[in-house]
Amino acid sequence: ETSIVWLRDDLRLDDNPALSEAAALGLPLTVVYILDEESEGVRPLGGATKWWLHHSLASLAGALEAKGSSLLLRRGPAEEIIRELAAETNARHLFWNRRYGQPERTVDAAVKAWATENGLQASSYQANLLFEPWTVRTGAGGPYKVFTPFWRACLAGADIRDPLQVPGTLPAPPKRTGTVQAGDTLDGWELLPSAPDWSGGLAAVWEPGEDGARRRLEDFLDGPAEEYGTGRNIPGVEGTSRLSPHLRFGEVSPFRVWRQIRRRYPNKVPADVGIFRSELGWREFCWHLLYTNPDLATRNYRPDFDRFEWEKPGKDELEAWQQGRTGYPFVDAGMRQLWQTGWMHNRVRMAAASFLVKNLLTDWRVGEAWFWDTLVDADAASNPANWQWVAGSGADASPYYRIFNPVTQSKKFDAAGTYLRHFIPELADLDAKAIHEPWKSGMELVGYPGPLVDLPESRERALEAYQKLRDS
Ligand code: FAD
Repeated sequence: ETSIVWLRDDLRLDDNPALSEAAALGLPLTVVYILDEESEGVRPLGGATKWWLHHSLASLAGALEAKGSSLLLRRGPAEEIIRELAAETNARHLFWNRRYGQPERTVDAAVKAWATENGLQASSYQANLLFEPWTVRTGAGGPYKVFTPFWRACLAGADIRDPLQVPGTLPAPPKRTGTVQAGDTLDGWELLPSAPDWSGGLAAVWEPGEDGARRRLEDFLDGPAEEYGTGRNIPGVEGTSRLSPHLRFGEVSPFRVWRQIRRRYPNKVPADVGIFRSELGWREFCWHLLYTNPDLATRNYRPDFDRFEWEKPGKDELEAWQQGRTGYPFVDAGMRQLWQTGWMHNRVRMAAASFLVKNLLTDWRVGEAWFWDTLVDADAASNPANWQWVAGSGADASPYYRIFNPVTQSKKFDAAGTYLRHFIPELADLDAKAIHEPWKSGMELVGYPGPLVDLPESRERALEAYQKLRDS
């Protein structure tokens, strides 16, 4: 008799209820990760998240080995793989931490039903969200559509449990008998890019895995956390935590983040740190939205937007946006940061997304797909929810008439041009006054394009399109 822990978006030993419970049972333990690109509706990972996953799994495998365990890798439709593995290892117990997307929930429910029918015990746990989406309900019993009351309801009477410690020892895997198949190798999955290998910029910035996550959290709390309220808006400084990809892959638990804050501030959490905590609330809110709207990435949350008349972007226009060549430095710096490092500052994400959706009148789904492929934190809930927020089609969305002006944003949030200069070397010689609107500088800029669209004109066009939607 043995147990299986099936790890998914919870690639950590710390505060991992499924792993801790399985360890406590003491039976020989198989820890498996399944690369599932076949189950119906499961969204295949983008390039940047594949890169992350490779390194995160490598780090996790090392951590498990140090505890006397190991990580088994299998690829294929998850339900089938679990059934095979259970038969091979004579498993009687399955453990996992819950997922919240519809296709994943369908798979998990099928595995649970099969387990029950076949005399296996399947146990699932809350690990990746502070609040299970179905437990937060309005007075009328429905899901929330607006963030502020959602987060207020979460925090009212919130009993946020303490994180679990890493189990002292982990049971060894079952002895390999003739029936237990060998796992895959990580390299065999070919998650890393080759020809061309674009991952150098990612590797320079990130340390995927639990150690990297813990360091980011501590560095943030030791450093910019108490100035987060202002620092979070300045893309030229590291004013935010950069925990997003670590949270995305579950390398750090939100319960751990919460606890570290409480430990530092046992009496009163400073206002700035409180703002940071409410950003974690936005993450919870996005999952709440996805849970109740499983097709958030493909359908307008607000159905009236189905009538919106998007323009099909020209190939050149779209490429200019993707490659950071729109001629608007704030947008371009952001899109280059994304391409080089797999991450973009939130303030710039909003401006770059607004530029695509409003100034280029491009369907938000086109941008969402690009971010999905290029962000290391690309997340099934936060990415579509935020794109819909920018487009105005989402829950608690930015009003349609809010069109980020990339020049104003740039002057306000990168006044000295530090961020712009870092990502756009062509503009290095422009001073802080000229750099936000290089076409006005009168200087000949080698290699940097002029503005792709006229701002006032494209703004008017967007307002007309949005007005038409309202009137129709
Ligand atoms: P911090 O400011 O340190 O915030 C802490 C944590 O709170 C983040 O790690 C993240 O988990 C959460 N958080 C912060 N802001 C948001 C938000 N607006 N929505 C949801 N969670 C939030 N975030 C993702 O994690 N994945 C995505 O795919 C994603 N796509 C986005 C697309 C667009 C168009 C926009 C405008 C925003 C998107 N965001 C996404 C939200 C936000 O930009 C990132 O979470 C944030 O920039 C990550 O950096 P950080 O970890 O330093 O954040």
